[in-house]
Amino acid sequence: MHQVVATPQDDKFAVVRQGEQKALHIPRSFYEEVVEAVAGGSPVPGWLADAAQAAWGLRPAGQPSDTAVLVRPLTILNYSRATFEINKGCNFGCEHCFLPERKFEGLGMDEKRLLLTMLRDAGVLWLQFTGGEPTIDRDFPAAYRMAHGMGMLLELLTNGSRLYQPAMIDMLTALPPHKVMVSLYGATSESFDALTRRRDSFKGVMKGIAAAKEAGIPLEITLIITKRNAHEVDAMRDLADRYGVYRKEYGSISPTYDGGNEPLATQAEDWIGRSSVFAGCPAGYRFFHVDPHGWVTMCKIGRENPINLLAEGLSGLTRLPAIADSQMSRAGGCSGCKLSKTCRVCRPLAKVYQEAEAPLRTYCQHGMKEATK
Ligand code: SF4
Ligand code: SF4
Repeated sequence: MHQVVATPQDDKFAVVRQGEQKALHIPRSFYEEVVEAVAGGSPVPGWLADAAQAAWGLRPAGQPSDTAVLVRPLTILNYSRATFEINKGCNFGCEHCFLPERKFEGLGMDEKRLLLTMLRDAGVLWLQFTGGEPTIDRDFPAAYRMAHGMGMLLELLTNGSRLYQPAMIDMLTALPPHKVMVSLYGATSESFDALTRRRDSFKGVMKGIAAAKEAGIPLEITLIITKRNAHEVDAMRDLADRYGVYRKEYGSISPTYDGGNEPLATQAEDWIGRSSVFAGCPAGYRFFHVDPHGWVTMCKIGRENPINLLAEGLSGLTRLPAIADSQMSRAGGCSGCKLSKTCRVCRPLAKVYQEAEAPLRTYCQHGMKEATK
């Protein structure tokens, strides 16, 4: 199996090693040299052997390039990231979930294979498997293996409920992901199981986190803070720290992506307004989202005018930047706002808050000011 991947990345070139955070940025001429070496089966170029040893402790000197290096080809579309919602079904029933429905359905494996090949050919280097709960899709292991074999840097956004399974740990150990992001819904069974509406979910997720940590899988824990668990946020931080993993905190609960307001009732008052100011986003230009049926949108929230990737082919993606622009530039209920430079939400997100008739103070700087007068 290949040890490193030589790849275009946006307008640049890099050598990466799956499962490792460090990357080597290389000039185009070095990338072309590797392409030639792989095509000719000649030994790994000396500069690459030295750099791979320094960065990752590898010893590819003298090995044939075509076994040590996987080359990802140049693409004309040049997308670098995508999220793949492999299945919206989930084994949890979280109160704050941003999905309006969690139906167990999606493409068959043959179509998934075609889709993954198209993502590669669109330039996707970072691919996030998400859901629903991605690991419960019956094709997840095969799709993960295929994407890994194509040299992608894989992220798994999971509720962690299946991480304890030996087959899952074995796969993630043999084919390491870029990272596994687990959502943490509380520090006790009481709060966690009440939020997920599944008995013993806390126990299962903690077992999974422990197994993944033990196996050396790169983990990131996101604390999801709602009314259910805001009182134990310090204990949640301690829990994440106990596993010595990187943690993030997320306390702004959004409506469902189609503007349903049910999740808003779970918002913890003290956590309103803590998100950072929106500073631009390349959705639709550098990355995109694919739903379980192969429909592409600018992101998980901005789902207007989806493109049927399997039916239209890669050329369909050329329409995506204009679709993103129209969602990003629509002022909607915010037209004329003088505080837009300090706004915390992008336009697609503001739209779902407005459709949900959310109180202004939950997402808008102006509303915060009014509320604190
Ligand atoms: S684990 Fe995620 S997808 Fe599943 S119900 Fe909870 S928030 Fe929704
Ligand atoms: S919701 Fe907004 S910030 Fe997030 S990816 Fe979509 S456009 Fe970008």
